[in-house]
This record gives sequence, C-alpha cells and structure tokens, in this order.
Amino acid sequence: MNILEIFGTDVFNESVMQQRLPKTVYKSLKKTIQSGTPLDIEVANVVASAMKDWAVEKGCTHYTHWFQPMTGVTAEKHDSFISPIGDGKVIMEFSGKELVKGEPDASSFPSGGLRATFEARGYTAWDPTSYAFIKGKTLCIPTAFCSYTGEALDKKTPLLRSMEALSTSAVRLLKLFGATDVTRVTANVGPEQEYFLVDRDMYAQRKDLIFTGRTLFGAPAPKGQELEDHYFGMIRTRVSEYMEDLDEQLWKLGICAKTKHNEVAPAQHEMAPIFDTTNIATDHNQLMMEIMKRTARRHNFKCLLHEKPFAGVNGSGKHNNWSISTNTGVNLLDPGKTPSENAQFLTFLVAVIKAVNDYQDLLRASVASAGNDHRLGANEAPPAIISIFLGDELNAIVEALADGHKYEDKGKVQMEIGVDVLPSFPKDSTDRNRTSPFAFTGNKFEFRMPGSKLSCAGPMTILNTIVAEVLDEFYDELSKSDDFQGALDDLIKRTISENKDIIFNGNGYSEEWPEEAERRGLLNLKATPDAVPVYLADKNVEVLSKHGVYTKVELESRVEILLEEYCKTINIEALTMVDMAKKDILPAVMTYIKELGETAATASSLGADVTVEKELISKLSSLSTAAYKALGELEEADAAASDITDVEEAARYYHDVVLVKMGELRAPADQMEALCGEKYWPYPTYEKLMFSASI
Ligand code: ADP
Ligand code: MG
Repeated sequence: MNILEIFGTDVFNESVMQQRLPKTVYKSLKKTIQSGTPLDIEVANVVASAMKDWAVEKGCTHYTHWFQPMTGVTAEKHDSFISPIGDGKVIMEFSGKELVKGEPDASSFPSGGLRATFEARGYTAWDPTSYAFIKGKTLCIPTAFCSYTGEALDKKTPLLRSMEALSTSAVRLLKLFGATDVTRVTANVGPEQEYFLVDRDMYAQRKDLIFTGRTLFGAPAPKGQELEDHYFGMIRTRVSEYMEDLDEQLWKLGICAKTKHNEVAPAQHEMAPIFDTTNIATDHNQLMMEIMKRTARRHNFKCLLHEKPFAGVNGSGKHNNWSISTNTGVNLLDPGKTPSENAQFLTFLVAVIKAVNDYQDLLRASVASAGNDHRLGANEAPPAIISIFLGDELNAIVEALADGHKYEDKGKVQMEIGVDVLPSFPKDSTDRNRTSPFAFTGNKFEFRMPGSKLSCAGPMTILNTIVAEVLDEFYDELSKSDDFQGALDDLIKRTISENKDIIFNGNGYSEEWPEEAERRGLLNLKATPDAVPVYLADKNVEVLSKHGVYTKVELESRVEILLEEYCKTINIEALTMVDMAKKDILPAVMTYIKELGETAATASSLGADVTVEKELISKLSSLSTAAYKALGELEEADAAASDITDVEEAARYYHDVVLVKMGELRAPADQMEALCGEKYWPYPTYEKLMFSASI
C-alpha cells in the first residue's frame, strides 16, 4: 500500500477543488471557508457540478447531506443524482441549491420539543469548512441541521458557533498583546479513541451486548488486567490485520490515523489521529467510529464503543487533546521562549484554569451519559470531580507567581510577567498524571472524561465557549488600564490565587481526593441525573446564550433529550436483564441442578459419597431463589418508572432504584455462573469474550 497515493483519494479536498474549479469560483469558496462569508448561488452551482462529476467518476450514484443529530451517531438520507430529461432517459445532476440546503423529513429525530414548538421540518445546511467525501457509492456532504426558525437540532451547529465565539474573543485579546496580524484563532482537538474488539460469533450469542452494547452479567475471568501485560503489548495478527484495514480506509478519507496500540484491558485497543480543528476532528471522529464498526465485520470482529463493556476491567474513553492556535501559526498554549511569548501563554493558561473552575459543572455535564457513569469515579477513569493537573514544574512556577516570589529563588525578587523569562520546564514530562480529568501536557490540555462513544462536539463546544468568556473578561480588564504590563501582571497573579483550588496534581483515584475536593468546595456530580440539569443553571444559560452558542430553548431541549436518553438506556438494560435471567440463566441453572440431582441419585444408589452434588445443588438453589426474587423486584421497579412524568424525576428514579435492583440481580447470577459447568452456561464467558479474539 502506498499511503501517499491513497491518502485523501475519497475527499473533495483542497487539491481537488484547485484542479476542478475555475479560479474565481475556487477563490470565493476559499473565502467562505476561511471567513464564513455566504456562498453565492452561482458559485454553489459550479461547485456542485464539479463535485458531482468528481463523485460520479469515482462510481457514486447518490449524494447525502451527512449530519449529526442530537442522539445517535450520524444521519444521512440518500438521493440519487438522476434527473429525467424525457425520452425515458436521465442525466446525472446536482445543483448548488441541493448542495447548500437539504430538507430531510426529520420528524423522527429527537428535538426535545424544539420542532414541535417551531416548525415541523428541519433543514440541513452545507458546512463548507468540512470537506465532502465518498462513502460507498454516496457523496457525503457534511451539514448542520437546524429548524426553520434557526434552532440547532444537531451537534455541529453549536460547535461551529463556539469556535466562532472563541476566535472572536481570542483575536480581540491578542490585539492587546500587539498581535495585530492575527485574524482568526482556531480550537483544535486530537481525540484518542479507545475500543474493544470481540469475536463476532460470540457477540451474537449475547443479548446484552446486542441490545445495550455492554455485558449486564458476567463473572470475572481468572485473569483480568492485573499483570498489565496488554498495554502497548504485541498486537496479535488478527487484530493487526483489522488495524491495517482500518488505517487504509481512514487514510482514503483523509483522516490522519497515526497511532495505534493495545490498551490496558484485554481486548482493548486505541487509535489516535493527528489533531485538527474541533469541527473537522469531530466529523472525522464520527466517521471513524462508523468505519471502525464496519471494518470489524470484515474481520469477524465486533467493535465495542461502549464506555464500559465489561465490569472489573477498564472502560473506554475518548481523550480530547485540546489546544488553540492562531492563523499565524502560534499555539497559544505553548509556553514559548521569550518574555512576551511567555506572558501570552500565561494569560491563556490562566484563562483556561479560570474557565474550568468557573464552569466545572458545565464541563461535567458535557460528558454525562448512562454509559460514562460506569467509568467516571470508578478506579480506572478520572473521577466525576473536575480538577486540573499542571505537572510539578509548571505548578511550581504558577504557585511562585501567585505568591509573588521568584521560582527557585523564593522570597527574593518578584517575577515580572512579560519582562522576565519563565524558567524552562520539561514539556513532555514523564510524570504524566493519568488520573487527572483535565491535564496540561506541554502545549495542550487533555480532557480525559469524555467516554468512547461520545461525540467530541459536546465537550468541545463547552470548552471553547467558557474559555471565550474568560478571555472577554480579561479583555475588559486589560483594555481599561493605561499600564498594560502592570495590569497583566496583576491579572495573572490574581487569577491564579483565586482559582488555585481547581489545581490538583495528586492521585485522582485515591480515596482521599473526593474528601479533599469537598473541602475545597469542588463539585462532585456523580451521575448523569446530577450533572445534566446544570445546563439550565442561570450562569450557564447566560454564558452559552451570550456567546450565541445555545439559546435557553435549545438548552432546555438538550436537557430533555439527554435525560430521556438516560431513562431509555436504563430501561432497555433492565428489560434485557429480566429477559436473560428468565429465559436463559435460570433455565440453565435448573438444567444443571437437575443433572446434579440425577448424578447424585445414581451415585448414592451405588453407595458413593454425594457431598459435592448436594452442596452444589444447595448453593445453586439458594442463589437462584435470590436471583428470582431480585428479578421480580427489578421487573416491578422498572414498570413503576413509567408512572413518572417528569423526566428529571424519572432519571433520578432510574438511577436510585432501577440501577440498584439491576445490581441485585447481577450479583447472584454472576455467582451462579462461577459455580455452573461451562457447557451449561448460556453465554460466552468474560474469559472467552476478552481472551479469544486475540488468539
Ligand atoms: P497519549 O500519550 O496521551 O496516549 P497520543 O499520542 O496517543 O497521546 O495522542 C495524543 C493526541 O494529541 C493525538 O491525537 C495528537 O495529534 C494530539 N495533539 C498533539 N498536539 C496537539 C495540539 N497542539 N493540539 C491538539 N491536539 C494535539
Ligand atoms: Mg494515547
């Protein structure tokens, strides 16, 4: 395979545009992409026609407006290019109007009441900042999805708005630093994607995986991840073939798949592309998840993107590596070498620290889901408490600044920001703290709370917006002062002092941390029903609407959708458990008991000792009694949920009652699995699921 030859072959990218579009058309399209100026319909017609010709040459028959509704992964409705010309003949046609705007009948997409309140139909609008691409025989056009009155019905629109907000605020602030050549600031993200691969035939035997994406029952395998031998371990042939296939497909789509390795849990892997703008990287990540699943089929694997497919071993996250950079090529989170670069860096650094502190609740809410609740706060993932890790060196510098003494020269000379040079500190320090939810890693922040299945759009939208807000606050303060240096010095030091509590460089997995965090007054929103409603807190509605990212109505619709999704997820899980226990697990145990009984009868008629049979029968009988009781209670509890009309109350009920009952059913069932002969057990065990695929 020649990577250079295949890379981007299925993308209508810059070089294809340059080749196929007349110069003037290319120029105005470029202008639209760079500065968001509306696209003239004449220009759109030419672009559409060139896109169609290119796609048809590559075997396409259809096009689709590809979008990201508020739940699910991505959506598409395919239309063919054909247009009748009489004579029973057709031509292949694609107009600018069709490129720019689509009108899918979207009444079945969740809108949280939005569409009902406004218009029944939504429309999709081309996002020219993200390239069109080919999937199968379809030309896919990345689009935003809105209601007719302009309310965002998708995840892309708010993300684009937040990028705009951040750019505006950062460009304005940078002018005070003399960076008058900066016209645009971009937020970037490099999402590291974790996933599991299990054998497809085994997957097909487990209703829980099929219906819910995670195992609802399962005794631990004799070996888990305790030897830590899987992480970065040798990649097995079958998995490696899958990864190669995946890389090739991603490269064709212009996705810079870069890093791949085994993760901590058995059968767990990671794949990371090179970072891109938050918009493009989000589109690519959505596409990547889809292709990961599709490719798995060809290798007889099933790719699990659930945040916690197996109890007792690590779940999967999607670490969002986030940075902000200027159109002049400066990474604003890079410390730089000169005093003025340092001053700019420190300003953006403390702005992020303040933003994360002020809006801990929003960041936490942005990653909330039923699946991710199993990760956050468990022993392998960051806690549900938001804190920032700076690393020892940067932390020492920041503390010294706030205390007003020189780093390494305590108590003597005060460091003057913008005049003195920051003491250097190792960028890629090896003491990387993997227990922190939000870690500074040299020239970017790594937000580790997002779950593997989540779209990057939500957390990135929040992060971009809250940082924009603090940059505005900084601008207001600094622009009023006659003494920029002095004001900046004061601002940075004060901001550090006032937001110190959010910085935590210790072990986020330790038992002491939640207590310490509580003393510091940090929030600990443990589960989705605690986290999601905070979107509607006054300060949060204010910041998101002020920056034009979400209106209050849009937020209300999202809260409703997220809580509804939470309830539905747990309801499906509860029903699946009941079904599995009733139809498969209890009958299997009965069969085993019956055989044990028959064996015991034969054995005792021969005068042999039947202690083992008796003991097993007695243990299994009492466990199945317990399971049967728990099953009835779970069924009852789950049914009662439908009486609750308020969605927030329902979500709390599912969390406080139904989830607990699910645990009570799982415990005896898993104990029975450990006692039952393997050939009696109706499902492939953890051992088989996690260890066989890599053989
Ligand atoms: P880790 O050591 O955390 O596992 P990886 O190499 O797996 O790191 O992934 C790091 C991710 O961070 C990659 O997607 C990479 O492209 C991205 N990244 C690197 N530099 C930046 C940056 N300046 N801004 C945003 N993302 C970045
Ligand atoms: Mg990694």
